[in-house]
Parts: sequence; C-alpha cells; structure tokens
Amino acid sequence: MTRLAITNGSVVTQNAARDIHQGGTVLVENGRIASVLPAGAPVPAGFETLDATGCAVLPGLINAHTHLYASFGRSLSFGEGLIQWLGTQKNLISQFDDEDFHTCIEVGLALNLKSGNTCVVDAMALPAGSEHRYRDALRLAERYKLQYVMARAYTSQLVSPEYVEDLPTIERSMRALIEEFHGSADGRIRIELSPNLPWGLSIEGFRMTRRLADEYGVPIHLHTAESVDYPVMIEKAFGHRSNIQVLQDGHCLGPDVQLLGCATLTDDEFEVIARTGTRVILDPISGTTIGTGEPPVLKVIHNGHPSAVATNGMASAGGQDIFEAMKTMISLARTRGGGADAMPMQRALDMATIESARLLGLEQEIGSLEAGKRADVICVDLANVFCAPTFDVVATLVFACTSRDVRDVIAGGEFAVRDRKLLMADEAELTARATARAGAALQRARHQERVA
Ligand SMILES: [Zn+2]
Repeated sequence: MTRLAITNGSVVTQNAARDIHQGGTVLVENGRIASVLPAGAPVPAGFETLDATGCAVLPGLINAHTHLYASFGRSLSFGEGLIQWLGTQKNLISQFDDEDFHTCIEVGLALNLKSGNTCVVDAMALPAGSEHRYRDALRLAERYKLQYVMARAYTSQLVSPEYVEDLPTIERSMRALIEEFHGSADGRIRIELSPNLPWGLSIEGFRMTRRLADEYGVPIHLHTAESVDYPVMIEKAFGHRSNIQVLQDGHCLGPDVQLLGCATLTDDEFEVIARTGTRVILDPISGTTIGTGEPPVLKVIHNGHPSAVATNGMASAGGQDIFEAMKTMISLARTRGGGADAMPMQRALDMATIESARLLGLEQEIGSLEAGKRADVICVDLANVFCAPTFDVVATLVFACTSRDVRDVIAGGEFAVRDRKLLMADEAELTARATARAGAALQRARHQERVA
C-alpha cells in the first residue's frame, strides 16, 4: 500500500478550525491520512514524495448529485425547454445496449475523477428490468476507487411506461442492492433510496421508502420542486400542488432525506424543511443553464442544516465542474443578497467538502484532511496564467479555478489521476469509444423518431 507525502502545497485542511498550512505536508498511509504537518516539519523516511509546489492541496470534492448515464447527451439539448430536453435525452438513453451503458458510466466516472470529485452521488433512473446495469455501474465505480453513492431511482406512476415498476418489484430490488453493496469496498460503495420525482411514486411507495430507510439506515434522495412543471404534475397525481405535502404524507422528511433543487418551494415550505432538518442540495449550473428555476441559495444557506452543492448530470451542466458550481452559487447568492456579505466564499468550499460530507452522513470518512480519514486528496495547480497570482487560496479556488486545474487525484490513498493523466483507463481509447458509441446511439434514436 502506498506511503505518500504530499509536500510544499497550500494545504486547505477544511478541519474544524479551517486551518490552511502554506507549504505543509499531508502524509498518507494504508489508504488513510496519517497526519497533516505544518511547513518545515520533516518528512519521515519511507514515504514517496509528491511535490505540490504551486498547488492547493485539499480534500477530494463531493459532487452531491449527478446522473452518469447522461454523459453521452452533454451536447445534445442545450436550447431546449425542460420537457423537450427530457424527451431528447430519454430517446438517446433508450437506444443504449449494455456496452453503451457501460461506456457512458465509465466516461462519467473518469470525468468526475479528473475534475477532482472523489465522491459522487449518482441518481440512477433506468427503465424497469435494469438490475444488471445497476450492478455493472457499481462494480465499475468500485474499480475507479471513488466514494460512489448510487441513489437508485424508481417510479410507479405517471412517467413513461418503460420506467414504471410496481412496489413489490422496487422493494425487492432495493433490498437486494442494499444487502449486496451498501457499505462494500471498505465503505466506498453506498446505496440510497431514490423516489425519482415527487409525482412519480404513490404515497404508499413513499411510505415503503421510509420503512426501508429506517430498517437499513440508508438515506433518501430525490428531485424536488426543480421547476414550475412540478406542481402541475403533482396535481395530476395527488390533487394538490405541494411537493412538501407529498413528502409529509409519505413520511419522507427529516435529516436522512436529501432534496435536489427546491427552486419553486414557498417560504412556508422552507419552514417545514428547516423544522424537520431535511437536507437540500443545490445544482446552480444546471438550474440556470436549462432555465428551470433559480436555485434558492440564500434560503438554503440560512436554514441551519448541512447543505451541499452539485453539478447534476453532464447533459444539463456541460461538465462535472464543482469549481464552476461553487462560483455560480456564490454569484447567485450575492446578486440576490445585495453584496459580498450574502455568502462567504468559505461557505461555498464547505458545501463542496466537509458540509456536503455531513449531509451524506460521511463526515467521519471524507470531506477534510484530518488524521484517520480516507485519503481522498486533490492537488489543484494554481501556478498558471489562469490562476496566478494567489494571495488567498480559498478565493482562487472558488473564483478562478476550474476542474481543468486539477493536477493530481488521490482516492483511497492511491493515485487515480497523476499529473493530469487518468490511471484507471486509457483516456484516448475511452474518449474514442464513447464518441463512436454515442454517435451510433444518436443515429438510432433519430431513426426511431422519424419512423414513430
Ligand atoms: Zn438530477
């Protein structure tokens, strides 16, 4: 197992004191952080050295909501409204064979790692009967060494028929996935219950979700109030228009529930979120790019509970760039809040690291550089024309860096990316394979649309 000393960087620990050690060292041993040393401390013998001069060294970033199955659709629907956008994406994905799916997930994993995201929550909504594809994605993620959280999505009503599953089938599938995978690979693989959309599951289905969450101690994760379409669909399903009412009736509120979006919730509904300790994940790039709704940054950062930032899928976010998400979130907060006081830049970094870890219940394992935690560490190159000069490392990370500045990624104590080179796969081969397979799938989808 690697013994690694990451030296000479600006070590942004994200510990309780938010210590930053200029020229500090991070020692990694047996997949864990052994210690974080200030500048000048000698490196013990027997450690391989990674010189991080000119870099920020920080905990691997957490992407708290994405869709890796959307990797092939990333240049496809920009310019379309939400409903048309969903249709275009769904038509493409419906053409995937097992190898297309595998390649699509692999591209998504590679992109997240190269972007410095060592923890990914992957909301996986697949047609009924895709059990072997969930397992394929989980095994692939294990090989890629990430902290991978699969939010296995399900729907029982009011969606395309091929996605509908009955409740016993959903329950059987969830039990099997949780029992086989949750906590596997030294805790790197986790499962979450994901009623995909508030109108897509019966109240009985939400209550089943709560029972399983309590029985297994796994969180609940779903899209909520992302756009003005949500109340319309909820009314069709339940005869009222409130996202939060659905969750209340289904017993799916509380600290173990993660809601993505929340753009169109009312002040009263946010009070219910605050009172119940329900968690909110913001996806500022996706929400503003598709134009579904302005992320409610100010309401969320002041609700008193851990919150997180995410990219959402490549098809709506373009990339998987958490730096871009932090900057967009803070820009929205400051535009809304009337100035720089509206959201400190440290808070944005927290929501991509330790605060996000707390939201996921993983704060003992990841989210900061502290002795005993999993060695998920990234080196971000600041000594280039895009970032230099750096007088305040947090400001540079939040306002100047992009995912392309990530130089090294250490996941579970091992190099996943070194000097910008992905080590898990041949990146050129993967890119070529993805391009060919995505192109062929798109051709089939367009042919299908013409004959339909
Ligand atoms: Zn999503």
